[in-house]
Amino acid sequence: MTAPGRVEAGLTSAETSAPRRDAPRHHAPRGTWRAFGHAEDLDLDMQGLERPTATTAVLAHCGPGGTDLWAQSVAERIGGLMRIYALTTDRDALELVLGCPGPDCATPLEAEVPIAALLEMAVDAAATPTMTASAGALVLRRPQGRDQAAWLAAGTADPEQLYADLVVSGDPADGDPALIAESLEDFDPLVAFGITMQCPDCGTEANVPVDLEGLALNAFAETQAALQTQVHQLALAYGWSEEAILALPPSRRRRYLDLIAGDGASA
Ligand SMILES: [Zn+2]
Repeated sequence: MTAPGRVEAGLTSAETSAPRRDAPRHHAPRGTWRAFGHAEDLDLDMQGLERPTATTAVLAHCGPGGTDLWAQSVAERIGGLMRIYALTTDRDALELVLGCPGPDCATPLEAEVPIAALLEMAVDAAATPTMTASAGALVLRRPQGRDQAAWLAAGTADPEQLYADLVVSGDPADGDPALIAESLEDFDPLVAFGITMQCPDCGTEANVPVDLEGLALNAFAETQAALQTQVHQLALAYGWSEEAILALPPSRRRRYLDLIAGDGASA
């Protein structure tokens, strides 16, 4: 893959440390990020919510607040999800296994994308909200959360229709639609994210799309399911309430689960 080499996630120690025991179990303290998996996060219907709504809800729960999340660019929203993903999974890279797109080849290809590189792209996106296309005649802005929601509601999937909504100035009819779509993709790499890979078996080189938003939301849905399982097991074993179990720090929950499983009796 062509992504930069492995680098540290670039989060400050305050962001990477586990939530303190006395931390209130609700939205992240103003100005900070937190991991997904607090009691209130179990209320989110991660399977049932439309994707832009799920992203907005996760960002509202685990992000620093003080922003109109719907007006935030999709790139910045993905950056926020990646930050929360890093805190939730305690990883500094996305470990991906992608199927080779070559004909008659299904070799699994492994790739690692440093989350720090993705966060840098989100910072760049915040710094440059617009781009010029068609030799300067056309100015487009980045898509925002509310654009995603509107396109989803309208069932819009045609790329030309999509970028027509992003025109700040100029006439899209002046430019070549395919070129405009391509330069928008280059301009907004987090939104149309892909990894260039070469298959060692069949030699196919291709840009394999990676759905960063879907990947993060799936991880949060899995976290939610795992927490529910932990509540179930601890409630059965000890008779504790859901509230009491979720108030325990994750390390202590794991310790009790080990004891239940008989793996930690003499540790
Ligand atoms: Zn292949």
